[in-house]
Amino acid sequence: MKHDLSHKLFAEALKLIPGGVNSPVRAFRAVDGEPLFIQRVKGSRLVDVDDNEFIDYVSTWGPSILGHAHPSVLHAISEQLSKGTSFGAPHVLEIKMARLILAHYPSIRKIRMCNSGTEATMSCVRLARGFTGRKLIVKFEGCYHGHVDSLLVKAGSGALTLGQPDSAGVPSDLAQLTITLPFNDPEAFSQVIRERGNEIAAVILEPIPANAGLYLPAPGYLELLRELTRDHEILLIFDEVMTGFRVAPGGAQQIYKINPDLTALGKIIGGGLPVGAFGGTTEIMDCLAPTGPVYQAGTLSGNPLSLAAGIANIEQLTGAVKGESNPYKELESRGAMLEAGMREISATSKIPVQFQRIGSMFCGYFCDQPVHNLDDAKKSDTRRFAKFFHGMLDRGVYLAPSQFEAGFISTAHSIGDIEQTLRAARETFSGM
Ligand SMILES: *Cc1c(COP(=O)(O)O)cnc(C)c1O
Repeated sequence: MKHDLSHKLFAEALKLIPGGVNSPVRAFRAVDGEPLFIQRVKGSRLVDVDDNEFIDYVSTWGPSILGHAHPSVLHAISEQLSKGTSFGAPHVLEIKMARLILAHYPSIRKIRMCNSGTEATMSCVRLARGFTGRKLIVKFEGCYHGHVDSLLVKAGSGALTLGQPDSAGVPSDLAQLTITLPFNDPEAFSQVIRERGNEIAAVILEPIPANAGLYLPAPGYLELLRELTRDHEILLIFDEVMTGFRVAPGGAQQIYKINPDLTALGKIIGGGLPVGAFGGTTEIMDCLAPTGPVYQAGTLSGNPLSLAAGIANIEQLTGAVKGESNPYKELESRGAMLEAGMREISATSKIPVQFQRIGSMFCGYFCDQPVHNLDDAKKSDTRRFAKFFHGMLDRGVYLAPSQFEAGFISTAHSIGDIEQTLRAARETFSGM
């Protein structure tokens, strides 16, 4: 496989853009490589500038659950495009999007659109502080909530991949207002609530943490968080930027039957264009300007192109849920096939892999114990992962260039795609 043009472009980009990329994980640093420059995407595939084709499991980090460049999404964008790109005033798609989200999230009674997941979580934190009049925020090690100052403390995703879970430039005075706890540790959580419960504005988490690889909440854990936050009048914020419409139409909160006070969304609801949203009870959401004292705004918030793409993505995805071709069933069956294959390959090759999965999200850790939190995840052999990553890339399978990112299957991933992926994995493992 040739990478000549990508190599040339990256050298150029390095001179103009910090690290040559506009988002850190894309740089391939954790796998000792150089990023590929992409020219186009379609369905389950992406094609780089050297005309190499890959089965893509990054899925633009989550949004393309229907596969890349889905015809309904492209059609919706081009229809909207002919009417202009931005209005700076109310329009009817805002109501349509709000209704769509509310229909799937009973915990959300009012919603506001913004432009990224980062904006959504940042606004949730401000709103929680404004609503409660308290200062402290509790988050969990390895959870990533975008690059918000107060939340870049022991964070996951690129921060973790690059060994900078605590970012420079976040004043320690601010970081001190964030309490960080290990995930899936009920005792640690209960203790903090006992000791400082009445100073805490909000507890924010990824209900299914997927920015340090992927691990699931232990039975009863989310219930405990809900119960103790309610008892102490602390807002519970579910960051479902990744899991919203991914693990189920109603996200992790639908699966675990927990109603958070606030929810952050993004990724899938933008259909591949920039978007974020946050919502919750009417009482809390009405604290936002212009009805309330908590300021929040955006020149391009509710952008008609983003909303057109997002609405098409959600409608296409959820429209058929009750029909015969329920996309979530399809995603589950592809995921199960990949999981079974990877377990078999790991067993025959005697290379231990913890393959963790929920529906169409997955992560294979190179370690011999199941992973329940960040400490467990860090036991993965990242050098081995890097070898695996390059072996797969050379065989036409594009995975996230870090052990600490989840993979995503879309409805465009065929049985043949999964078979091809498993063949590549078998070959890669036999060379390890
Ligand atoms: C991606 C992500 C974010 C940040 O969203 P951006 O659109 O990249 O700002 C926040 N939280 C979670 C859980 C995410 O996966």
